[in-house]
Amino acid sequence: MTLLAERTTTDAADELGSAEVAVLPTGSTEQHGPALPLGMDFMAAEAFAHTATDREDTVVLPTIPIGVSGHHRQFDGTLYVSAATFERYVEETIASLADHGVRKTVVVNGHGGNTGALRRAARTLRNEETAFAPPWNWWDSVDDLAADLFDEDGGHADAMESSLLWHLREDLVRPDEFAAAEDGASDSWGEFSHGAPIGFDTIDFSESGAVGRPTQADPEKGAALFEAGRDHLDALLDWLAAQPLADCWPRDHK
Ligand SMILES: [Zn+2]
Repeated sequence: MTLLAERTTTDAADELGSAEVAVLPTGSTEQHGPALPLGMDFMAAEAFAHTATDREDTVVLPTIPIGVSGHHRQFDGTLYVSAATFERYVEETIASLADHGVRKTVVVNGHGGNTGALRRAARTLRNEETAFAPPWNWWDSVDDLAADLFDEDGGHADAMESSLLWHLREDLVRPDEFAAAEDGASDSWGEFSHGAPIGFDTIDFSESGAVGRPTQADPEKGAALFEAGRDHLDALLDWLAAQPLADCWPRDHK
């Protein structure tokens, strides 16, 4: 099925009528250090989501490109909305689709900061029996593979993200900046004192904006990540398409 945004309203009636599931890409427009573009996260989500156009039973929605990125705001170019705004926006977008009869959606997410809001939106939609809309984070689905491919803790503008975008959009990646990104990076996310988190914004613990070891990036590893993630997404969509809606709602008391 093609992208909903490229159909007319007259076509959409048929498309939505035959769609079992929807895919909604979400990401962010935020600093990713000196080697990657601001749109990294929504570009990644969109690339995964658009692989679902091969499926007959799936409708792919337009990408939501700005997310919960206030913790990157001190870096130039970062755009952000609050978690509450993002949660509501996603929730209402999915509810509007449910109005057209598609009540199962996978939110294909490219940004870690969106995760809490997406889980809350999914919970509300399910509790109201409006829609079943689990969020799918591409990096979580390929966690094991990334651990084999890279020696890093990572978390942001790292070897994993850099490799993926190098594969997807070579024109937007600056490999000659990986060393500078890594020089100013922290090894892992956040900063802690005796177990308490004391770094709340990225600038508190990373000078370059990166977290991880982007010098390990490799476009062939990015291709492997993309293929593995795409296969997981496809399997998730198979499962959700076959899932009766009645089984998606919250259970009754024992
Ligand atoms: Zn990112």
